[in-house]
Amino acid sequence: MSQDEKPTPSYLWSVLNLKCPRCRRGDMFKQPNPYKGLSPNSILDMYEKCPVCSQTFNLEPGFWYGTGYMSYAITVGFAAVTFFLWWLTIGFSFDDNRLVYWIITNAILSLALQPYFMRISRLLYLNLFVHYNENYDKEESVKFN
Ligand SMILES: [Zn+2]
Repeated sequence: MSQDEKPTPSYLWSVLNLKCPRCRRGDMFKQPNPYKGLSPNSILDMYEKCPVCSQTFNLEPGFWYGTGYMSYAITVGFAAVTFFLWWLTIGFSFDDNRLVYWIITNAILSLALQPYFMRISRLLYLNLFVHYNENYDKEESVKFN
């Protein structure tokens, strides 16, 4: 029934590009590059509302505390992936320090990716409460009361 054909951006694309979960088009963060001006204030500097569909991002005071669960899941998931890749390519043995090298490598990579993980965590957490709505320009946005 849509008068103008606008293709739906995919869920994966919108998450990886840090787009609003409701319209999958608007940016959530003011600075597109999480590595520019590395400080918690600039990494997590968000629009109050989506510039495209006006969805409020911070749904209630303290809403972002729940992000900790997402951050934990992402960090553990990432460690599982690097462990698996290390096991496939380099392998593990009790005769040398390859396990220690993996731990160090994983720690450095996790730290380096932290700015991006912090943003993805917020986005995935908001995704639990706000879902894609193809009528985002006509219907009211999601609110907590
Ligand atoms: Zn939006």
